[in-house]
Parts: sequence; C-alpha cells; structure tokens
Amino acid sequence: MAGSEAAWQLAERGHEVVLVEMRPGVPTGAHVGDRLAELVCSNSLGSVLPDRASGILIRELDALGSLLLGLAREAALPAGGALAVDRERFSQAVTSALTGHPRLRLLREEARGLPAEPAIVASGPLTSAALSGALAQALGEDQLYFYDALAPIVEADSIDQTVAFRGSRFGRGQDTEGDYLNCPLDRDEYEAFVDALVNAERVDLRGFEAAVGKGVRAGDGVYFEGCLPVEVIAERGRGSLAFGPLRPIGLKDPRTGRRPHAVVQLRQDNAARTLYNLVGLQTNLTEAAQRKVIRLIPGLAGARFARYGQMHRNTFVNAPRVLEPTLRVRGREALFLAGQITGVEGYLGNIATGLLAGVNVSRHLDGRPLLELPRTSMIGALCRYVTHADGRTFQPMKANLGILEPLLERPRSRPERAGAYAAQSEAAISAIKASIL
Ligand SMILES: Cc1cc2nc3c(=O)[nH]c(=O)nc-3n(C[C@H](O)[C@H](O)[C@H](O)COP(=O)(O)OP(=O)(O)OC[C@H]3O[C@@H](n4cnc5c(N)ncnc54)[C@H](O)[C@@H]3O)c2cc1C
Repeated sequence: MAGSEAAWQLAERGHEVVLVEMRPGVPTGAHVGDRLAELVCSNSLGSVLPDRASGILIRELDALGSLLLGLAREAALPAGGALAVDRERFSQAVTSALTGHPRLRLLREEARGLPAEPAIVASGPLTSAALSGALAQALGEDQLYFYDALAPIVEADSIDQTVAFRGSRFGRGQDTEGDYLNCPLDRDEYEAFVDALVNAERVDLRGFEAAVGKGVRAGDGVYFEGCLPVEVIAERGRGSLAFGPLRPIGLKDPRTGRRPHAVVQLRQDNAARTLYNLVGLQTNLTEAAQRKVIRLIPGLAGARFARYGQMHRNTFVNAPRVLEPTLRVRGREALFLAGQITGVEGYLGNIATGLLAGVNVSRHLDGRPLLELPRTSMIGALCRYVTHADGRTFQPMKANLGILEPLLERPRSRPERAGAYAAQSEAAISAIKASIL
C-alpha cells in the first residue's frame, strides 16, 4: 500500500523509481496474490463520513492527489458510509498504473539488506526475515518489534470520572494528582469481570500469526510470555489478574479511603489528554466482546473506543526513537520509512505515509527542505504521534480525532467537534497543498 503510493508520487515528480516486491517468489503468509496494493484483510478503507477520522484522512488524500485513493474510488462497492472496494479490481488497477508508468520499474525480488539511499523502506507488517534483520542491525536490535499486543484505548470524555480516580501507585509519578486514572473493582465486580473475560469470544489467530521463536501455548494460540492477552492471564487462575496487571497495591480509593480489591489503570496516551490506554489489558477478544467486557469495568460503562485491543504479527520500528516526522530515519541522509513499519496503522494511514515519504524523497532529490505536516491535519497528526510518543511504551496508532491538535474552542457536542476538526484539517491541507503538488 505505502510503497505503491510512494513510488507513484516519486515517478510523477520526474524521478526514476525501482519498486522492489518479493511476491510471488517469497510469500508473506497473508497476501494471496502477486499484485501490488493487495488488501490483506478487510476490503474497507474506512468511513467516508466527513466527521470521522478516516473521512478526514480520505479528504486529505484526495486533496493531495493520492493515486491509491483515486483508484479505490473507481473500484468502490456499495457499503453505506464506508469506502469499500472490489479488492481484485483495486489491486489490478494499482498494478497496471505502476507498471505502465514510464519512469517506474517493478523488480520482483526480495530485498535482503537495506537499499542504497535515497530509498524508502515500506515492507509492511510482514517484512521478510532477512530485511527485518538488516533493519534491526541498522536501527538497533531493540528498536524493531515483530509482534503486536495492543490494549484498547478509550476517549477521555467517555470515562466516568465520578467513579475513576486519579493517582499513581504509592503516589509516584510526575503529576501531583497522579499520572493514572484508576477504575476500582470490588470483589464481586472483579469476579464478574474475570468470568466475562474468560468466556468472551476471541479472534481466531491465523497460522502465520503464531509467534515465531519462544512462546507459550495458551488456548489455541501461541503468544510471547511478555505480551499475554489479558484473557489468557485470567484463565491461569481467578486471582491472577488481581496479582498481575490489575493489582491494587499502592492505591487507595479517595472516596472510600480503602484499597480496592482490584484496579484497572488507564494511562494518558496523548499530550492533549483526550485518549487513555487500558494498562496491561492487551487482548485478542473480538471488538464486540471488548465493548461488552470492558464496559463492565466501573467507570467505563460508557467507554468509547479510539482503538480496540488486538494481537498479530507486526513488524514496526520504535518510531519515537528512530524516525523524524518527515519520515526520514534519524541520522540518515536519505533513508525513509513508510506504511505500517512506521507504527502508523491502517490502510489509509499507510497510503498517507507513502504519499509523504514519496514527496519528501522527491524534495530531497531536488535539494529542497523536507516537509513536516501540521498536526491540524490527520496525516501530520499521525506522523507527529508516532514520532513523539513515549519510546518506552510505543505502540502503533491509527487515524483518530484524539491525536489531532486540540481545538482552540472545543464545541460541546461530538458532531460539532468532529466538524471543527474537519474544518481545521481542510485549512491545513489547503495551506500546504502548494508545497506538495
Ligand atoms: C493480517 C493483517 C490484517 C490486516 N487487516 C487490516 C484491515 O482490515 N484494515 C486495515 O486498515 N489494516 C489492516 N492491516 C494493517 C495494514 O493496514 C495492512 O497490513 C497494510 O497493507 C500495510 O501496508 P504497508 O504498505 O505498510 O504494507 P504491505 O501492504 O504489506 O506492503 C508491503 C509489501 O512489501 C513486501 N515485502 C516485505 N518484505 C520484503 C522484502 N524483503 N523485499 C521485497 N518486498 C518485501 C510484501 O510482500 C508486501 O507486498 C492488517 C495487517 C495484517 C498483518
């Protein structure tokens, strides 16, 4: 996805491009064909509604002349408010456009090492082992991750703060009020939560997602011990969560003056404090099951999810440590990353980073300064988020309203807020359009 968009943007700006694709000779385990821009799972790129994060991103990509978005529209299927595509038609159209471009050559081979600069690495969540090894060597062994265990993220204003209290274990932390929001559970609430968790529906892990290397067998999946899904920990014993990620030690509920039986901690996930991450609650439950089970937690009955938890194989770099918001690798003259490997999630976000990387390599070749997009745009906000998150706990992020620059005046209703964000994005994109096109 990202590589196709990047290659097109570069070629359209007059540069000779070699696009290296290892399929079909070397498979990824998820792609089934040999075409470019194959959608590995859902055929939906997301909602087109202008008040949704994906809708805002779609309008930005349209305004900036994205090839893939244009072809997605041509291959669109009826899907209510979503941009869903006929996946065969879409990837065929991308393949034809790229292979038919006079300045673009498609090379079907595995890149086993880092390419000569200038180059963009956009090898995706299922980057081959050889290239992953080369990246790890160049960036640092501990700056590349292979497996993703995501905890859900909820919107701050959907947390009931008459129930959740602020505080850090033993009063440690930077904020005098406490860095975390804590949802206290009494014994009955804890038992009900554990019951719901172990009985909830899980996502089937496909064969390729089974972890490589050291893992523990648990249920029908194979997981790394360090990132066990919360439902698997719960299965190990009724008290295992209360002694593990939900341990109440060092916390006192100010309303009762007592230590709760268990506590779900929520950690601030962005500078604007609009998003909170459920600490240690990485999960492989279906989205419907997550809504049901997480809303049993006191304080989260009305939780709105900015991101659901999930587990899958995912190669991505520790972007806050190794990447600039221009998508250039820190300390390198002209090595760029794009797509899922940057930590930006989702088809649209991947296309967007491909577009920016292509534009920036072109600017580099033309001797012009690299572009960093404003955080009032969704593309800019995504690049900013992944490069400025906490490098100790970094996890991928997809487009959502919570990462955008906070509004100067925040309308009270959600639709009005979304409208204001959309207007902000439109202004940002029209201001930078001339530098990009
Ligand atoms: C199983 C799975 C399901 C997903 N489902 C969704 C979904 O439903 N919706 C969504 O929005 N996002 C989904 N994603 C996340 C992500 O949006 C997609 O994976 C997206 O295709 C990533 O785009 P990309 O350009 O980064 O990588 P890709 O589209 O995967 O492109 C990377 C390309 O690089 C090639 N490659 C890898 N290593 C090498 C090498 N060494 N040499 C040469 N070529 C190489 C691969 O063959 C591949 O064609 C999913 C991810 C996975 C793994």
